[in-house]
Amino acid sequence: MGKMAERVLLVEDERSLSDILAYNLEREGYAVQCAYDGDTAWELFDGRPPDLVLLDVMLPGLGGLELCRLIRAHSSVPVILLTARGEEADKIHGLDLGADDYVTKPFSVGELMARVRAQLRRTGALGQRIERGGLLIDRQRFSLEKDGQPLPLPRKEFLLLWELASHPNVAIPGETLLRRVWGEDFYGEEQTLAVHIRRLRERIEEDPSRPVLIETVRGVGYRWAG
Ligand code: CA
Repeated sequence: MGKMAERVLLVEDERSLSDILAYNLEREGYAVQCAYDGDTAWELFDGRPPDLVLLDVMLPGLGGLELCRLIRAHSSVPVILLTARGEEADKIHGLDLGADDYVTKPFSVGELMARVRAQLRRTGALGQRIERGGLLIDRQRFSLEKDGQPLPLPRKEFLLLWELASHPNVAIPGETLLRRVWGEDFYGEEQTLAVHIRRLRERIEEDPSRPVLIETVRGVGYRWAG
């Protein structure tokens, strides 16, 4: 099986620039989603979180810095800001809000691509494997080990586990988990989720009736205790 293309969310309202960047990103093998305003960007992000975000600061609707703050509240995905000359304060504010890097317009496509690669290298090394409580979760191989022993599990359960474990200490709503794991067009019930959570707990928790890894957050959903 080939390596899955890393997904880049490109948020830039200037169409000509967006087109050039999307073209070059795709040529480098990334899967690109484009948003031309902040609100659409957030919908795309929330629907299926990307591996990296390129984020223009001045956007119609929800602004780039607001979006950066929102993304950071939910995810540790790398964010590179695209700032204009004279937006020095925004750049600093953006870094304070948790952006990982920035480039100042006009920038060369080559420079931006190098920064994208650098960020993905950094998170790729860390981001594909999670270790916790004797568990080793490997996203690239879709495999789980417990105390060094392989623990086979169905793909949906793996995806659910990854979705939780890759967002430590974040309470993820049940409906969000359903959408991210089962897909946009899944109209199942919360019961489906409850069943899968129970099975996962039976596999990974020392005492499934007193879970310490996958916590239930009443009225919200579930949280991975990081
Ligand atoms: Ca702009």
